[in-house]
Amino acid sequence: MTKTRHLTILGSTGSIGESTLDVVARHPGQYQVVALTADKNVDKMYEQCKQFHPSYAVMLNPQSAARLEDKLRIAGLDTLVLSGIESLEKVASLPEIDTVMAAIVGAAGIRPTLSAARAGKHILLANKETLVMAGRVFMDTLRQHNATLLPIDSEHNAIFQSLPHHFNGDLTESGVRRILLTASGGPFHNVDLDVLETVTPEQACAHPNWVMGRKISVDSATMMNKGLEVIEAYWLFNAAPEKIQVVIHPQSVIHSMVEYIDGSVLAQLGNPDMRTPIAHALSYPERMESGVQSLDIFKVARLDFEAPDFKRFPCLRLAYEALAAGGNMPAVLNAANEVAVEDFLAGAIPFTAIPAMIEHVMKSTERQEVTDLEGVLLADAQAREQAHSWAASHARQYIKQTGRPSSLSAR
Ligand code: NAD
Ligand code: MG
Repeated sequence: MTKTRHLTILGSTGSIGESTLDVVARHPGQYQVVALTADKNVDKMYEQCKQFHPSYAVMLNPQSAARLEDKLRIAGLDTLVLSGIESLEKVASLPEIDTVMAAIVGAAGIRPTLSAARAGKHILLANKETLVMAGRVFMDTLRQHNATLLPIDSEHNAIFQSLPHHFNGDLTESGVRRILLTASGGPFHNVDLDVLETVTPEQACAHPNWVMGRKISVDSATMMNKGLEVIEAYWLFNAAPEKIQVVIHPQSVIHSMVEYIDGSVLAQLGNPDMRTPIAHALSYPERMESGVQSLDIFKVARLDFEAPDFKRFPCLRLAYEALAAGGNMPAVLNAANEVAVEDFLAGAIPFTAIPAMIEHVMKSTERQEVTDLEGVLLADAQAREQAHSWAASHARQYIKQTGRPSSLSAR
């Protein structure tokens, strides 16, 4: 690689953020980390500043920013510490950077990611929620400002790698019959359906193959993650929902496939380690070492495939419905899911209430067109309000049924 890339990493203290820094550290001189951002994790951010000497470190939380500043000053480091959402937007669009890793979790990622798009940056997109909430707005913004996008989500990165180099957004023109989007099925793929009522956050976060943040781990357990990924694929590859087949593949070795009209099926395989798609996107169109072990194909030995069970995973059905409805509905789905997952992780609602809450919020929201960021943020806020009030009434029911306290009753 010839030119040094100048990076902002949004969400650097998270699972994707740390994997990105791990890859970057393997290639000294090729990448300069200009800005790192996080919500509250001061200790991890401090360690990252010591190792990578960024010009900026942004903590969303002002108290965390003040603590980080103290620690950096004592250590004699001159990283400029900022806080707040405007600072996240600022470091995503600095003139001295060319590339932004968008790895904030959830709807919180939308404003900084859009800021990077408006500044015409090269965006490596892990924050799938931005595309789910604001697919049209985000894709239009990219085009208007000549920003470029590469997918980090392992499935979409695999699809990108399996599509022709000249892919121009028209699957039919490229001879693609369909996309096979693989899913591990998560930790509850085989458990009895009545067990789902009582599963704990720890069980839900114990993903069989991937180590990830807690929100996406729960999304994998409900398969909402795959639902969000269907919507993500729709926007990234201009793929009609009927051209996207979800395939349960418990080994998570094939990261997705593309089937062509001549019957060829191209796949990308590898160990389930996010450093592969991260290194691919960082070095594209070249290749570089990622630290990922060679795939031991003999140890893998077999690859299984099953059709998804929509009864076991109602979140997948809800995501297809939101995509078909369009307008505000994907943002509503995403917001209700974020509230439901938070409440489940806080022990306030049972696992099975996650799809129930989302379905309730979707049914009680009128479909509307959204044409700008304000419209998306409004749909998001209204859906959150609906979800909170549903959760509050459900929490009372939950206490009655189980005799267990719900943390929501304190809210
Ligand atoms: P994580 O929870 O491990 O990390 C999230 C990061 O975002 C942290 O740095 C955190 O400080 C920051 N953050 C959280 N809330 C914030 C807020 N309100 N404002 C600003 N920053 C905030 O999450 P993760 O697993 O790394 O996932 C990040 C994104 O990547 C998600 O959108 C997820 O769906 C996607 N993704 C993750 C994986 C994976 O393997 N972890 C795989 C594919 C896609
Ligand atoms: Mg994925």
